[in-house]
Amino acid sequence: MVCALCGRAAKGFGYTHQLRWGEFPSHRFCSMPCCEAGGALAQRSAGMIDKTPMEAQAIKDARRPLAEVLVELGLMAPFHDRSAAEIDRVIEACVDGFQASMRRQAAARDPFDDPIPF
Ligand SMILES: [Zn+2]
Repeated sequence: MVCALCGRAAKGFGYTHQLRWGEFPSHRFCSMPCCEAGGALAQRSAGMIDKTPMEAQAIKDARRPLAEVLVELGLMAPFHDRSAAEIDRVIEACVDGFQASMRRQAAARDPFDDPIPF
């Protein structure tokens, strides 16, 4: 199971709107900060978490840390004249690869091995 907010491994934090498990989706989270942020988000939108606008912003927000690593590793030159859209493709490739792996690994896990009761 992966965190409903950031795609990292979920670790026993959860949120279900008004604790009505049959009616609203149960979201799992990796950490207390993700649980609080994701829970607040779900509370504002009737139990749902729509990540699309947040994901677009998160990709944008990842440009700076990516640039910092590129500078640190002396790799900035080949990226210098690239457009924002091209930089975002690099970030998205990393995020997509990470999340696809998380989903594959989660799917491969034995569901009866899962200690989380929701
Ligand atoms: Zn998370």
